[in-house]
Amino acid sequence: MGNIAFINANVIPMEERKRFSAVLAVDGKIVAAGTDEEITEKAREYGVTPIDLKGKTVLPGFHDCHAHLTITGFDAMGINMYDAPDIKTVIERLKEADETWPEDRWLFGMRLDEGLLAEKRPPLMSELDIFDRPVFISDRGGHYVVVNRLAFDALGITEDLRGVRMGEDGKPNGRLQDEANKKARNNYPHSEQETLEAMIYTCEEALKKGITTIHGQEGSAADDPSMRLVLENRDKFPVDLNMWWLYINDNDEPMCEELKVWGGDILLDGSIGSRTAAFFENYCDGDGNGYLNYDDDLINDHVEKAIMKDHAVSFHAIGERGIWQALNSYERALELHPEKKETAKLRLEHMGWPTEEDMERAGRMGVRVSTQPAFTYLRGGPESIYRSRLGEEREKRGYPLRRMLDHGIIIGGGSDSDITPMDALLGIHSAVNPPYPENAVTPYEAVRMYTSDGAKCGWEEDFKGMLLPGMQADMVVLDEDPLTCDPLAIKDIKILKTVRKGDIVYEG
Ligand SMILES: [Zn+2]
Repeated sequence: MGNIAFINANVIPMEERKRFSAVLAVDGKIVAAGTDEEITEKAREYGVTPIDLKGKTVLPGFHDCHAHLTITGFDAMGINMYDAPDIKTVIERLKEADETWPEDRWLFGMRLDEGLLAEKRPPLMSELDIFDRPVFISDRGGHYVVVNRLAFDALGITEDLRGVRMGEDGKPNGRLQDEANKKARNNYPHSEQETLEAMIYTCEEALKKGITTIHGQEGSAADDPSMRLVLENRDKFPVDLNMWWLYINDNDEPMCEELKVWGGDILLDGSIGSRTAAFFENYCDGDGNGYLNYDDDLINDHVEKAIMKDHAVSFHAIGERGIWQALNSYERALELHPEKKETAKLRLEHMGWPTEEDMERAGRMGVRVSTQPAFTYLRGGPESIYRSRLGEEREKRGYPLRRMLDHGIIIGGGSDSDITPMDALLGIHSAVNPPYPENAVTPYEAVRMYTSDGAKCGWEEDFKGMLLPGMQADMVVLDEDPLTCDPLAIKDIKILKTVRKGDIVYEG
């Protein structure tokens, strides 16, 4: 934990609309913000030499309120095949890794796009069998993988499994789709060391974007080591991790007790892309209106137990009906235990298509929402899959950040990385410039989502999210002021420095 002083700066503490020209942190905590003279004087008392920022902007370190650490890291650490022009290049890249990677590691390729290869097909198993270790290449959309024989056998794939593609010789050609694709991805043997490295890598990338706190979504099953690895290696991570679960486990479990968290990205419903997000009315381009994955009783029971233990609770809910199910259970629990009304830690992930009534309910109950503005910015609008699935009226109602704020809901911003890039400025830009202006928030409100309100979504507002005396000295130095620059240029602002607990941990 370090000491640092910035002077001649544009310090925005995110407390009301205050601004200062200087800020001092000692032993990892903010001591004061004020004028250059005041802070220079105070810095001298502590023996700190102030850094002249030449007018650059200082904000609290950003929070990414929803990111998948392992998946993001695994993706980034794989061999990138996206821009490979032909199969020869794919093989060359595998050979390079084969010579440099540790011997027990599989050759893991990512983002293969057969449409971009000269041959218009992925490599065959026979072409990948030149390697004497398993080869596993994932396509760009996650719909298939290509493997060699060693990987095929090690993954426990059998020829009769649906999706195992056969060559002209009647034997598997290495391409695995459908069931076989799913099984291959689930059975990929990431070692614990690799899993830890992947998560740390993700956090190091986050620092480059000014992110100092990540709300990690991990622990997808009882045998998934990621949550345990986080708890055992806390001090190896270069950012603060506020952890949430990917599955409903037993809240008597020691890790739940330690985290005081019993929920997270638990899929009450699904996604728009797969038509599994649950709505009241049917999809416009296919059968049905999505579905709920759990019975009300199970969810009610889960929520009530969490509230009684004063654990935070959250669910993934995208469609109207998923949100409705979560809020019903929150409302029920608070009615049964009115003494918990003020202290219950209720949260939702995404909240894509809330009804007006449910926004009112969420605001009233103090539900804090972790949402992702880049979803609609990058994936919504008239030409989007959201539009064809949902129709114009419904598509426009997606991620209504303006309405949520008007209903008093506290919103934290996140990426859902690797769904969208872990990039808080892109998120802020997206919240200010959504496809439909009626859903837009102001730059100040958008910055709040990634700072002070982001901290609230992790119940860390007592010591993070603002630059106030006593708070953790997490800061980001920006080339431009996102509150006053051209709103269309927010995403292009450069990160100059990231400060965590008073130490400069990144310089751009
Ligand atoms: Zn989710």
